[in-house]
Amino acid sequence: MSQLSDTFTINTPQTPAAASALVAHASQNSYFMSGATRTYEARRLTLLKLRAALRKHEPLLLEALQKDLRKHPHESYMTEIGFIYDELHHVIQGLKSWMKPRKVSTPLSLQPGSSMIIPEALGRVLVIAPWNYPLQLAINPVIGALAAGNVVTLKPSELTPHVSAALALMVRESFEPALFHIVEGGVDVSECLLAEKWDHIFFTGSTAVGKIVAVAAAKQLAPVTLELGGKSPCIVTKSANIELAARRIVFGKVLNAGQTCVAPDYLLVEKGAEQDLIKAMRREIELRYGSNPLENPDMPRIVSDRHFQRLTKLMDPKYIVAGGRTDASQLLIEPTLFLNFPIDHPLMQEELFGPLLPILTYDKIEDAIRLITERDHPLALYIFSEDKDEQESVIRGTRFGGGAINDTIMHLANANLPFGGVGASGHGNYHGVSSFECFVHHKSVLKTSTFIDLPFRYAPWTPLKNKLIRLFLR
Ligand code: NAD
Repeated sequence: MSQLSDTFTINTPQTPAAASALVAHASQNSYFMSGATRTYEARRLTLLKLRAALRKHEPLLLEALQKDLRKHPHESYMTEIGFIYDELHHVIQGLKSWMKPRKVSTPLSLQPGSSMIIPEALGRVLVIAPWNYPLQLAINPVIGALAAGNVVTLKPSELTPHVSAALALMVRESFEPALFHIVEGGVDVSECLLAEKWDHIFFTGSTAVGKIVAVAAAKQLAPVTLELGGKSPCIVTKSANIELAARRIVFGKVLNAGQTCVAPDYLLVEKGAEQDLIKAMRREIELRYGSNPLENPDMPRIVSDRHFQRLTKLMDPKYIVAGGRTDASQLLIEPTLFLNFPIDHPLMQEELFGPLLPILTYDKIEDAIRLITERDHPLALYIFSEDKDEQESVIRGTRFGGGAINDTIMHLANANLPFGGVGASGHGNYHGVSSFECFVHHKSVLKTSTFIDLPFRYAPWTPLKNKLIRLFLR
């Protein structure tokens, strides 16, 4: 048995990375208990240090994103590094006021007295990140967790090894592992970490692995945030500005080669508008990525051969109305549109997570709403329409994590909007103040006077006490 085992149940590490994770796990507990993360000044300094580390390593991180996913530096800045700076700015600005204990009113029956809510750090936080935005989805939850005064262990995805290594270098150079530790590795390391005791687990990834994480969290009654995926629909009605809809749908779908959790997964187009929309999307794809997107060096690639094979199997030429070319040697897939396929086709079963866009048509908006509500609640939903009633009936008539009217993806760019799923697309949310809220416990404290001690709560019960209690509690 290890000497650490008196503080927590230790599992047997299978790899050196897992072993180092367990050592850091123990030191994080004492660091947290020392109160070192409690003050506003300490947390602010930590966040400033993180920003400085990101700035210093920005070229390395951009290069790593290019190597892992062939992301153009502009795209990487917009959707990863710049996005993180924006979140850091927002959190640093708001932190002082978010941390303040909040006074709330106290009922007459408890007077004289006062009540307050203290947002308090939870303790040890584990963040498990995916590969598709390997930087942003690793660091943004860490920002919230550190701002809330926690100590953090981060496990980046093994599928983006260059980003994982760059992150590890940056974190190890700038932070004590007792405050912010990073453990690289795959499923074995993840499993090893999940067997430890945590005060919060923040997971971003697939629904299947989300279920494994939820079970691990349940075993130790740790709160868990699950940022999962799903099939996010995008409705286009006849009233929509078709040119603009095409531009914004193509933007949301082709960004990161469709490997975006909030990318439009399939289109629901009002019958009669589909041909105009397809023509406009074809033009848009050519305008942005050229007549052969596979030759465009800015076209991001599919992350792995397994995912490339999974996607190309879905590309039935019978239903392709635009695109369809692939390049296995570079793991590239051209943005591809599908029409007139059966509703139970595999394209409509799993989350696509690639540049494939199936298009279904509907007669009435109620039909589109029914199709969505009969399925799992998606992470995102989009509607393109100039008609307020259509917009309202879709937004109110469906359940989804978050979304946009006449746009795709851009709701994420507003740090004032909480980001998270519902039902099968996850639970809990973050970004901006929600990132802070996600990682705190609201400790409630009542302070009562010692001068007066109202007798009616104490036995023996009498008719007078009963009258009084009924006066207060009605
Ligand atoms: P994934 O679930 O395969 O992996 C995510 C993380 O879990 C990785 O770090 C991986 O090492 C770890 N992991 C994998 N198998 C595990 C296991 N058996 N036990 C413990 N840990 C394990 O997800 P992915 O392929 O990296 O990402 C794609 C998925 O993530 C998509 O479904 C996408 O929609 C979703 N996603 C959601 C969001 C969001 O914010 N809601 C963002 C990005 C991606």
